[in-house]
Amino acid sequence: MQITEILVRYGELSTKGKNRKYFIKKLQRNTRSKLKQYQNLKIVANRDRLHITLNGEKADAVMEDLEDIFGIQNFSPVVKVGKSVEEAKKAVVHLVGKHFKENMTFKITTRRADHNFEYDTNELNQILGSEVEESFQPVSVQMKKPDLDVRVEVRLDGIFISVDTLPGAGGLPIGTAGKGMLMLSGGIDSPVAGYLAMRRGVEIEAVHFHSPPYTSPKALQKAKDLTAKLARYTNEIKFIEVPFTEIQEAIKKHVPESYSMTITRRMMLRLTDRIRADRNGLAIMNGESLGQVASQTLDSMMAINQVTSVPVLRPLISMDKNDIISIAEKIDTFELAIQPYEDCCTVFAPSKPKTKPKLKKVLEIEEELDIKTLIDNALAGIKISSISHEDSSEELSNSEFQSLF
Ligand code: ATP
Ligand code: MG
Repeated sequence: MQITEILVRYGELSTKGKNRKYFIKKLQRNTRSKLKQYQNLKIVANRDRLHITLNGEKADAVMEDLEDIFGIQNFSPVVKVGKSVEEAKKAVVHLVGKHFKENMTFKITTRRADHNFEYDTNELNQILGSEVEESFQPVSVQMKKPDLDVRVEVRLDGIFISVDTLPGAGGLPIGTAGKGMLMLSGGIDSPVAGYLAMRRGVEIEAVHFHSPPYTSPKALQKAKDLTAKLARYTNEIKFIEVPFTEIQEAIKKHVPESYSMTITRRMMLRLTDRIRADRNGLAIMNGESLGQVASQTLDSMMAINQVTSVPVLRPLISMDKNDIISIAEKIDTFELAIQPYEDCCTVFAPSKPKTKPKLKKVLEIEEELDIKTLIDNALAGIKISSISHEDSSEELSNSEFQSLF
């Protein structure tokens, strides 16, 4: 008995009142785009569910891709049979049989869109329930939290039956919150911040600062590969590389070492904000977690954040490193992030950065820098590319390598 359709249930969209239609449209568009390789699919959205008709496409592959789409609470593979109670009985017995365990509890939940069908929902529940009880022993009906919930839906074009419900990715459809710039280093934290922002509906563009020849092409490639990992949740992500060498050299020359980190961060934030404004972004995201390092104390954040009034979102702000690492492992960015290619902050890192920088002092020191020219030069050198999930140039990790043999 073949799975003919996947039934997708929306997540939080249901709380969105008038915006509901917009959220659903966005989810439908994101789903179409993520599943575009399956050309025979028919994806129809209605008020409370999305129906994906397979038309011969492989259910397992489609369901694996569905797991990466934000805004989906859960989904069920569905079997379609003709409009006859005998066919429905057969299908229900077949599907229950796959899950049968002794003393299992179950219930049948019927919905009826076709009100002219010869049986109503109560009758169908009873007929199909008795069929299960007669076919399997010992089983019993239980309304509250049964082991198996058999869902039957009588529509105009057939009877649809499902017994499995698989968890979706949760969150909100990407794009419903608008666009934001993710400051993406090559580290563990910022990709996780990007993932969490996307999960709440933000479309991200990645901004990466690099300082050749102090940082290697491999460090740049690593940031691109991390972007490719994040692109799994959307179609593709714009990657914006910003040349940062001139600024770092100027800071090295003119700024006292204890303030170089604060001023470096201010320059990064200024540049990201300019790029954001040019590209119609509404926010900036970074991977800061309170107290993790010197630049992530509240004093530092205050001194750094002063260059912009745009919201700087810090999805990791209250998370411990271990929690961040578990998410990095789940989204498969951890192994890549711990590869030892230096990024521009590490290379120029002062030995004793100030954990409590004074804004007055920062402003005095910045008088020594020609900030406008430095910013304009860096902006003139940015390169923008589109990165999709398949673009990863990642070398085979040990485990993948071994599994080839
Ligand atoms: P990460 O693991 O994300 O590198 P971190 O713990 O190493 O974070 P920092 O190096 O202090 O922390 O960086 C804090 C944040 O600043 C990063 O999470 C990232 O958002 C941003 N950032 C740091 N370096 C870069 C860079 N080269 N390009 C873009 N953003 C950067
Ligand atoms: Mg870092």
